[in-house]
Amino acid sequence: MATILTHPIIPLTLGLIATRDVLPWRLVILGMLCAIVPDLDVISFKLGIAYESAYGHRGFSHSLVFAAALASLICLFSKQLKSDRIHIWLFCFIAAASHGVLDAFTNGGLGVAFYWPFDDQRYFFTQRVIEVSPIGVARFFSERGIAVFQSELRWIWLPCTTVVTGYHLLKSYFK
Ligand SMILES: [Zn+2]
Repeated sequence: MATILTHPIIPLTLGLIATRDVLPWRLVILGMLCAIVPDLDVISFKLGIAYESAYGHRGFSHSLVFAAALASLICLFSKQLKSDRIHIWLFCFIAAASHGVLDAFTNGGLGVAFYWPFDDQRYFFTQRVIEVSPIGVARFFSERGIAVFQSELRWIWLPCTTVVTGYHLLKSYFK
């Protein structure tokens, strides 16, 4: 995985670009949670489920079908979220699916089961530039954790910050 601090950056970036009638803050925050949810599957290690199993880490919970199902579930709360179902679905789908996409850029562990349940195979992108995050909090606060965070700053935080800043600068320029 990329770290739990970094996955929510993708939906936050979208939230900082969109207007509040399209993506109200409560929906943005929910989207940030959607980007973390796939990694709840680390509990599979405690349950003795093999990493390479479809129900193991980076298995079904990192798939596009899971992201679509999670987005559909959240659409049931469109009234409370004060947004259109289509916006809710698209945003939550992108937020949850972005998790697997970032993981597929990491340089360790097994790949991502993007196409579960149709295909259990694990996939990586060819450019595996992001340092894989250690699993577990204790190992995260280590020298290795610092290297991971530096890598995430470079490959995720910096591009996202550039997109948000660039967008708002252009917007104010053309206003
Ligand atoms: Zn993950």
